[in-house]
Amino acid sequence: MPGGSGRQTGDGTPGDGTAGVGGLLAGGPGDGVPADAADVTRFWRRLGLPGLVDVHTHFMPDRVLRKVWDYFDGLGPLTGGVEWPITYRADEDERLAVIRAFGVRAFTAMLYPHKPGMAEWLNSWAVGFARRTPDCLHTATLFPEPGVERYVGEALDAGARVFKAHVQVGAYDPGDPLLDPAWGALAEAGVPVVMHCGSGPSPGKHTGPGPIAHVLARHPRLRLVVAHMGMPEYEDFLDLAERYEEVRLDTTMAFTDFAERLAPFPDRARDRLAGLGDRVLLGSDFPNIPYPYAHQLHALERLGLGDAWLRAVCWENGARLFAIDP
Ligand SMILES: [Zn+2]
Repeated sequence: MPGGSGRQTGDGTPGDGTAGVGGLLAGGPGDGVPADAADVTRFWRRLGLPGLVDVHTHFMPDRVLRKVWDYFDGLGPLTGGVEWPITYRADEDERLAVIRAFGVRAFTAMLYPHKPGMAEWLNSWAVGFARRTPDCLHTATLFPEPGVERYVGEALDAGARVFKAHVQVGAYDPGDPLLDPAWGALAEAGVPVVMHCGSGPSPGKHTGPGPIAHVLARHPRLRLVVAHMGMPEYEDFLDLAERYEEVRLDTTMAFTDFAERLAPFPDRARDRLAGLGDRVLLGSDFPNIPYPYAHQLHALERLGLGDAWLRAVCWENGARLFAIDP
């Protein structure tokens, strides 16, 4: 989720790639463990899980990620000026050490273009990242532009296991005819696409349930993972998930104190979360989150939907979708 402004919880200056005082890890990358790792591992151990599957984490080329952080640091329009300190601002090695210390056994490299001519380059970076990061699910992206069908095919051939699409940042209609063959290819391959298609933290021209509903009408088998539970149009996206059995939702930032202030999840929809318990997937937005990672987990726990629901969301659903062997 792109966002507003904020200083991190430390002294790192925007875009300098450093963490707060002393870094995130005691003793530096490879040695220490992050201060909040015990809190995270206690959560999944209590549930008897082998760890966590997190379908929504961001890894991208360094200079792109730094631009994203600059964006979070600036008072952008997207959060209406809400402070957005990046808790896990650090170099790539250190971020990987942190997420592994949390016990996240599989994660993604959500990357996305904001203009034409960028997706293919991001995808080539992601091939290398996946190769050197075996616990990262090889991620790819796309944009409505000539050639998209070709490079999506090439990404699938190269072993991409998940795609990311950002309708708000990309400012495109997911129903753009240029994307139609790409959605068809993903549906046929059974490769999920995590899509930021809700109107949070602020609406874009093509966000909201309408445009993506048109795509699903044409491609009902598309494995769409609605990012952020579709925040703030939660109930409209729950409708889509109830209507299309391949539609899933990721929890990214939803139910946290931060999100509840901006876009509270309606109490009346809680039972529907239980009903869709096999299609809600843990997502976090690591590292770009304005609170410790464990807070996302505790926010899920306090929904009161029970341990079986938590086990499904935090491990089983993702493990099944991506055939992850504990
Ligand atoms: Zn995100």
